[in-house]
Amino acid sequence: MPRRTAATLATSGEVLRLIRTGEAVTRADLGRVTGLSRPAVQLRVGELLERGLVVERTDAPSTGGRPPVRLEFNAAGGVVLVAALGASRTRVAVCDLAGEELAGREFSMDVEEGPNVVLPLLMDTWDELLGDRPHSMIRGVGMGVPATVEFAEGRTESARVMASWTGVVIPPIIRERFPVPVLVDNDVNVLAIGEHRGVYPELGDLMFVKVSTRIGAGVIAGGGILRGALGAAGEIGHIPVLDGGGVLCRCGNTDCVDSVASGTALLRDLRALGKDVKTIADVTALVRAGDAETMATVREAGRRIGEVLAGAVNILNPAVVVLGGDVAEAFGPLVSSIREVVYRRSTALATRRLRIEPSRLGAGAGITGCAVMVLDHVLSPEAVDETMTVTALRPDALTARPAG
Ligand SMILES: [Zn+2]
Repeated sequence: MPRRTAATLATSGEVLRLIRTGEAVTRADLGRVTGLSRPAVQLRVGELLERGLVVERTDAPSTGGRPPVRLEFNAAGGVVLVAALGASRTRVAVCDLAGEELAGREFSMDVEEGPNVVLPLLMDTWDELLGDRPHSMIRGVGMGVPATVEFAEGRTESARVMASWTGVVIPPIIRERFPVPVLVDNDVNVLAIGEHRGVYPELGDLMFVKVSTRIGAGVIAGGGILRGALGAAGEIGHIPVLDGGGVLCRCGNTDCVDSVASGTALLRDLRALGKDVKTIADVTALVRAGDAETMATVREAGRRIGEVLAGAVNILNPAVVVLGGDVAEAFGPLVSSIREVVYRRSTALATRRLRIEPSRLGAGAGITGCAVMVLDHVLSPEAVDETMTVTALRPDALTARPAG
């Protein structure tokens, strides 16, 4: 984003950005950094104070004289509503403007019941979690859903789990009750955003791979999420593996890594071997018991995933590959097979400093990611200015006006 110069006149949104990042924390700093006149600084700060986005703090005087009034971003000045939907686990929360969870709930919900059942339930839950906080405090909504999402529209495409969601445009439904910006992305992208901001904020390039009922990836490139032209970037689940044996994938192709190495595939293959497994937890129990056939099946799945990841690593050269999702979290043998294949098959330069790590936030990355996604949007200078009618319309007309 280009830095504004004095010639283009910093808006209230830009002033908020400087206060949030700590680049300028007093009115005098703001004048120096932006080149705005004192009345112009006063006007913008006044707007931000009025909207509750900034608060004033006065330090105790230490050396005598009048201490300067410090300006701080007010994380308590509003809330965002977030929900990380999964095929089995769903987390719903209300977060402050710093992304801290104020109230949350986790429940198992069958998302296959469709948007007509699930979305009203989410909205009712947000209302309960809001408690006494008025709707006027809500600045935005951020959601992750287990489907490919055409991001700009918030439209779900080719739902990975549930057909009843295909083609649903979510934001207008939410805005009927909560008329604020609504951002929707796929579940793996919000996990990637959460793990990046929460654990690896200093790294520009990260790939989050979720191995669960399905396999998918979210890519952080150059510090931001890589969505591709419509939002389908990172769909590694439907990259074919070599010599997969002709397994038909539900996408219609054969030998997609999803069809040979996902949690669903593991259960199918183990049942074919005569194992009594209904859930991933059953598989975990067999691995713990040292069952040789189960261990071999899990390792083979890891090698398949590693094969596809090796290609992705060559293209993207991430600094870290984070492995998450309940299957990856449960199985050491799977993770070590993935590691082995990626290091062997990716190029030397791409793997020279590559780290392959288990997710540290686990399911919590989903809530963090949803909050970061919506906060980055609603607190961006452009979005803040849109809500500040006066300076957004005519920033240059106000510089000479005395503060009111
Ligand atoms: Zn497929």
